[in-house]
Amino acid sequence: MTERDPNAAPGPTAIDPYQNLLAIRQEIADAVSGIAREPQDITIVAVTKKHGVERILPLLEGGHRVFGENRVQEAQGKWPDLRPRYPDLTLHLIGPLQSNKTADAVALFDVIETVDRPKIANAIATECARQNRSVDVFIQVNTGDEPQKAGVRLEDLEALVTLTRDELSLPLKGLMCIPPVDEAPAPHFALLAKLSDRYGLVGRSMGMSGDFAIAASLGATHVRIGTQILGPRPPT
Ligand SMILES: *Cc1c(COP(=O)(O)O)cnc(C)c1O
Repeated sequence: MTERDPNAAPGPTAIDPYQNLLAIRQEIADAVSGIAREPQDITIVAVTKKHGVERILPLLEGGHRVFGENRVQEAQGKWPDLRPRYPDLTLHLIGPLQSNKTADAVALFDVIETVDRPKIANAIATECARQNRSVDVFIQVNTGDEPQKAGVRLEDLEALVTLTRDELSLPLKGLMCIPPVDEAPAPHFALLAKLSDRYGLVGRSMGMSGDFAIAASLGATHVRIGTQILGPRPPT
């Protein structure tokens, strides 16, 4: 086996998360150039699940501040050390939340995107009061009505909006969805936009690496992008 020349230019497989982020910003700008939206209306949530701090640091050093993780325990392993150095960062929980993890989630995250049942909304409200913390929340909607998927069913959405926003007074910022993998995403994004309008919610977290440009053109305020920024996730 030959040693790789340490002075060689990075090979084609080298990942540059910050350059990737800039390219995505440009793609979003292109996607909304013909419509009445500004690229800065769309927040890029860099999804860092399964990636280590060395992949995340170039983004922080470049000035990016909004990140997403899908597991509470994994996030606890990397973000508490980074927070003191970057106090203005915003951490989104984008994976399903179990009620026994709510205290940890409220302590660590700034935004919980995956409220999908009354039990979780209630638990978040209780923990926010107990910890004297405030977290923004999104309701995850199961737009594809998939039995195995997280997210509130369409027929239960109105009651969950009422509970979360009006009864518990949580800062409900919007709706979130993950379209079925085997379907065109556009109708799901359009549905989420329609539902958020119906309830007077501004936020729409929709779009990932494969479909963020479509989501941006259909009204996303937050796109959650992992692979296209940080490269393929290492196997667990
Ligand atoms: C992992 C994940 C993403 C990012 O997926 P990519 O395809 O890597 O961009 C977005 N949203 C959720 C909920 C995720 O779990």
